Amino acid sequence: MTAPDSTSHPQPSRSGLDRAAEERLTPGLIDAARSDAATRVLVIAGDAAPLAAPDALLWRSPDDVPDGGQWAFLGRDEDRSALLAAVFPAQETDLFEAPAGWAGLRRVGGTLSVHDGAAFVTGLSLGRWLLDAPFCPACGSQTLLGEAGWSRRCPSCGRQHFPRTDPAVIVAITSASDPDLLLLGSNALWGPERYSCFAGFVEAGESLESAVRREVREESGVEVGTVSYRGSQAWPYPRSLMLGFLAVAVDDDAAHADGEEIAAVRWFTRDEIGRALAGEGDVVLPGTASIAHRLIADWHAGRS
Ligand SMILES: [Zn+2]
Repeated sequence: MTAPDSTSHPQPSRSGLDRAAEERLTPGLIDAARSDAATRVLVIAGDAAPLAAPDALLWRSPDDVPDGGQWAFLGRDEDRSALLAAVFPAQETDLFEAPAGWAGLRRVGGTLSVHDGAAFVTGLSLGRWLLDAPFCPACGSQTLLGEAGWSRRCPSCGRQHFPRTDPAVIVAITSASDPDLLLLGSNALWGPERYSCFAGFVEAGESLESAVRREVREESGVEVGTVSYRGSQAWPYPRSLMLGFLAVAVDDDAAHADGEEIAAVRWFTRDEIGRALAGEGDVVLPGTASIAHRLIADWHAGRS
């Protein structure tokens, strides 16, 4: 199975947001926050949020948010004011004008502050669930929202439902025989000189280690020995958690593209990766905000 595009993930492994999860059961939390002028609201329409500047979200006061959105509690700001998300369907990006326009996470995720990046990822993840999952998956009844937007309860069968997160592994592969080699792949949907790590969703009943070995075998043909965890990154397209690994191949010569999902695989020298990271030459690596970039850069710098 193919994981979503992993080339533009913001803020790997950093949290940046006080979720104040212990408050979600407080009765009337969202109503109270909406009547507090100090509260700041992140409006999300489809995949887009309004920008105050090219590198900053536009946070609005509750009174400035149009009617009709779905509301959720994102957490607390440093001054303890509440942070809410107000989520609207995709067609409503003309809700109001923003100083720097509206943008999706893919475009601005790498330039936002840690705080804004985390809020955007959280708001998008929660927002998709709020809009897309109003019915009980067990019996089909309309569910009731609870926990300030973080859970749903079915009034018919009594089940409780929560936003799902789907784990996906993303793997940089080095060589057991030559630690100065890194194996990357070029997805069939990309340009011919664009290379990145190997990635895929974890299947039902599968451990992360097994998923790493399976995905690497399927996409690159090699078997890996040592597998080490390097960090993670939430990515709400649609609801992924990217888990980054470095794996050591034990049969370098077996490397070959699967010819379907992966159009080419290639062993790169440390010098070649260094030049590509510097933007020199024809090879294009993942963007600097992505966990794929961090896996590659860490290997190049000898940090992994
Ligand atoms: Zn039900």
